[in-house]
Amino acid sequence: MKIGPYEYDAFIDKVREFHGSVAPGIVAGGIMVDIARDRLPEGEFFDVICESQHCLPDAVQLLTPCTIGNRWLKIVETSRYALTFYNKYTGSGVRVFLDAGRLGDWPAIRAWFLKEKPKKEQDLQEILEEFQRAGRGIYGVEQVKVKEEFLTVPQHRRSAIALCPSCNEAYRSDLGDECPACRGLGPYR
Ligand SMILES: [Zn+2]
Repeated sequence: MKIGPYEYDAFIDKVREFHGSVAPGIVAGGIMVDIARDRLPEGEFFDVICESQHCLPDAVQLLTPCTIGNRWLKIVETSRYALTFYNKYTGSGVRVFLDAGRLGDWPAIRAWFLKEKPKKEQDLQEILEEFQRAGRGIYGVEQVKVKEEFLTVPQHRRSAIALCPSCNEAYRSDLGDECPACRGLGPYR
């Protein structure tokens, strides 16, 4: 089985290099990216939504030009293990999800996916072998229409920049009279 342009084992190496460890979720995610892509019209531009911030975004960033930074990849956290490739003008897309109902024959994947066992009791090698043998058989696919608000340019891209009167750093003036950090919303103590 190949994932993107990579042989299975080469993809595992890529995941280790990119993500820092071999997370089973990225391997599943890579297979999901391939399933979605194969259903899309050839040569069409697409955006991607990941419904979980765990692992899935890294699979997309490894295998497609869509990244968080270029905003062709968005995370809409529903915590479901699913991704959608969609046409950013029409909103028509393909949603692929890991289907818990199809894991009966795959105990290692099931234990990982549904957190049936603590992580240290899970056997990574076994999970990876099951993913390889299961191929595309454990994923569901559906046609979806993405909501308008994910298609248009976000309002804040058009808004003005101001210098915050408290910290003098540039910020989006539509966020208030001071930057969010100076209003206590920053991440620092
Ligand atoms: Zn400030």
